[in-house]
Amino acid sequence: MFSEKMMKCGAHKAEITPKPEFGDIYIAGYATMEAPLVDGVHDPIHARTLVLSDGNERVVLVSVEVVGLLQDEINKIKDDLEGLGFKRSRIFVLATHTHAGPDTMGMWGPFIGKSGVNLRYMLFLRQQVVASVTQALKDMKPVDVSYGEKKISNLIQNFRPVKNVEDTLQLIQFKYEENIIGCIWTFPAQPEITNRENVQISGDYPGIICNIIEEKNGGVSLFGLGLCGSQSPIYVEQGYEKLELMVNEVYKGFEEAQRISERVEADQLEIRTRKIDLQLENADFALLQTLSIFNLPEVKEGIIGSSVSKIRIGNLHLITIPGEPFPGLINPLLKKYANEKFVILSHVNDSCGYFIPRNEWNLAPVEFLKPEKKEEFVGHENESMGLKASETVQEAVRDILKYQKVMAVSPHADDISIFSGGLLAKFAEEGNKVICVRVTDDYGDCVGLKPEKAIKRNRNEAEKAYKALGAEEVIHLDHPSDTLYTVDYEVLREQFVRLIRTHKPDVIVTFDVAPLYEENPDHIITARAVNDACWQASFDTYYTEHFNDGLEIHTVGERYLFSETLNPQVVNSHLDITEYIEKKINAVSQHQTVMKNWFHQRKLLARANQLRVDLLEEEIPDPIRVNILVRFYYSEIGASFGVKYGEIFRKLDAGFLNDLGNPI
Ligand SMILES: [Zn+2]
Repeated sequence: MFSEKMMKCGAHKAEITPKPEFGDIYIAGYATMEAPLVDGVHDPIHARTLVLSDGNERVVLVSVEVVGLLQDEINKIKDDLEGLGFKRSRIFVLATHTHAGPDTMGMWGPFIGKSGVNLRYMLFLRQQVVASVTQALKDMKPVDVSYGEKKISNLIQNFRPVKNVEDTLQLIQFKYEENIIGCIWTFPAQPEITNRENVQISGDYPGIICNIIEEKNGGVSLFGLGLCGSQSPIYVEQGYEKLELMVNEVYKGFEEAQRISERVEADQLEIRTRKIDLQLENADFALLQTLSIFNLPEVKEGIIGSSVSKIRIGNLHLITIPGEPFPGLINPLLKKYANEKFVILSHVNDSCGYFIPRNEWNLAPVEFLKPEKKEEFVGHENESMGLKASETVQEAVRDILKYQKVMAVSPHADDISIFSGGLLAKFAEEGNKVICVRVTDDYGDCVGLKPEKAIKRNRNEAEKAYKALGAEEVIHLDHPSDTLYTVDYEVLREQFVRLIRTHKPDVIVTFDVAPLYEENPDHIITARAVNDACWQASFDTYYTEHFNDGLEIHTVGERYLFSETLNPQVVNSHLDITEYIEKKINAVSQHQTVMKNWFHQRKLLARANQLRVDLLEEEIPDPIRVNILVRFYYSEIGASFGVKYGEIFRKLDAGFLNDLGNPI
């Protein structure tokens, strides 16, 4: 057997230097408002693209040499790239944060209250990004991936009293045979060596180095601002002469990282995304939004929607974060994963200011203060959405680092698709591993079929349904349906404890133990035994024979228990499933045999009540019935908490310990 290389890469770059015919372009980066007009080009700026594919997942990274891009612009780019077949959650647009590019955010206009954004330029920028991605897609080559890093001391300073400077250059390179297709490298120093008087377009040190790399190595070189926060180069604002010094020294570091780089075993891309709601506490930012200088589409009641993601290539993890996280916000989270390599990309999909950890918040950068002049430097906190948003970002990164295993237990084929299809689709799409356990064989859930045939069909249809939700593994326990109460409880519970100790799920999804209006004994018994097993699996005194088989105790952290009709008064978890509704409908539609019987039974019930229900009586195909009913039912649930489609659960986690403990 020969192993075929799965990872493919395409790359391209397109120039985005403003053209004279666009009219006035304001230079962005330093003194906000009353910014000077661009006059000349020191070095041309670009949008650079890498497309990565493993045959299953496809990701696009675009590094754009501008000061920042806000969500409204990112959304337009995503709209266009969707047309090229990319999923929105797989599109990552980075700003390099050069302080010598055109105003792309609105904060550098001619006078206070007037945006400096040139709309003709923005359209051009977007077209060039799309052109660059289109070209990159045309020539995807199988690649080897390598990683190298080099600490470059004495080039970075941190004006904040916290002195732990982050100073490592990181490089990921993609090579087809002997040719470099592209690379992405990071260095955690603000591109701000051009000074405040500068009116020439420049990519600053990253842009110039990217040009050198491309000239010497071939391929396309993307720069990403690493875990930089407010760290400055030692030549901050000293102009083009010093820029050259910085370029030489950082490039030496790049060459060294490249020389010592090692191959990464990488045949698969794994992507996880956490959507986050960032609270806008900063009144200045809110004012910019009110003045329409910022035009953030997702701001609702002071909340800005955003996301952090992890792109995993072997043991390499690229973490994408909006804005500019401080090293102290993220580094402590990475420490416990000693065998993994993390590459942080900031300014991704939104340039929404600094994210500062609580223990560094409000520290006055004393170096800037001149007490004799009674100066008050208010620091980077003024360019941050606020402490709450910082902590939300930190939580999301913490969360995204660890993969979760989700085990859903369904007494009958259709239960988990119906009650938790949206939740499971969401878990799967966020990169978690979903395992579905089906307890019974559904031999009787059919109309006019022999049991053997019903068992076979329901099993196949369950597999299809769970796969449609994104499940990686399906386990059938094959107890005869609707007679679970005849199975020895001890036998059943041991089966669940064994499953939990074998697969070590972080999350269990199943029926509730207190189903007020539940009539189905299989549901009640499964709920009882599974929830019981969650408790028993973590005792080293129970089912000790498991330990002889190499199993260990395991504690399930969270449980999502179905509540929708069964126990509405205990609902404490409301999930917006609007974007997963199609997947849910698709999954439920797969249970053809079960649904046929369900509709048949409902028709009999209607008749027994002297009712005629057109949806059941007429020759309407089952998939359409499923579509109508699932939409109807889950829109009613969604409406109860203000979303289009919703699912509800009783969620159990650490409970009162949440108030006593601190996150680790
Ligand atoms: Zn059921």
